[in-house]
Amino acid sequence: MLGSGGYFAFNIWDFESARAVIDAAASVQHGVILQTSTGIYKALPARVFSAFVKSYASDRGIQAWLNLDHCKEKEILFHAINSGWDMVMADGSSLPIRQNIDFTNEIISYAHARGVLVEAEVGQVKGIEDDVVVRQDAIASREEIAEFLNKTDVDFIAVAFGNAHGEYKVEPNLRYDLVEYTTSITDRPFVVHGGSGLSDEILTRLIRIPGVKKFNISTDLKMAYKRGIEKACSSWSQPVNASKIIHDEIMSESVAKMKLLG
Ligand SMILES: [Zn+2]
Repeated sequence: MLGSGGYFAFNIWDFESARAVIDAAASVQHGVILQTSTGIYKALPARVFSAFVKSYASDRGIQAWLNLDHCKEKEILFHAINSGWDMVMADGSSLPIRQNIDFTNEIISYAHARGVLVEAEVGQVKGIEDDVVVRQDAIASREEIAEFLNKTDVDFIAVAFGNAHGEYKVEPNLRYDLVEYTTSITDRPFVVHGGSGLSDEILTRLIRIPGVKKFNISTDLKMAYKRGIEKACSSWSQPVNASKIIHDEIMSESVAKMKLLG
């Protein structure tokens, strides 16, 4: 699916945020992944939304893929697979490793039969992202990573390596050795969760590791939205102007991230 090099995956929440991210991707001429949390997925008209993303991206001349991020619910995963989503994250990371493998394989067999790719996570990335709350640090072990890759046909592999969702309260202690270990034993693209709040320096270091290909950004985009709303209210004129101010704030945040890809 993805070409060489890395891709940012931005968590969007409605049609306008999706449009801003696609406009950002078009302005830097780079493909992009748009993703929804499970909660947002349920709030959107799935088929209409996927049709919109495809048609708007094609109109802007870039490739955009749609991912369902962190989903533990089979019915919703199957629904997304049948609603034009290009990939889904089967999130069995809170389960013991064997059960995570079984859960992931069940989703994979359904998804692959319909041309949809699957991401899964080993260990659990802590923090808060919409309906996903993980308080304990659960860094993956090398044995679990190897076993997971051996026993599943997963297309994208996420590993908890000290990264976190939401804002980092303290400087993250990232286990680059686990990232490098994973990419040394598989060609399957490595996914960095919790990209928001990682400094540009850290993101750039991760971008340079061959095999690390998907960088998830959620909180940073939501903060851009909030800045946009504040700006729009403080210089209020018409809704159309307010919408543009918010759009531009989300777009420039996305552009700044994508420029790190070089
Ligand atoms: Zn995540």
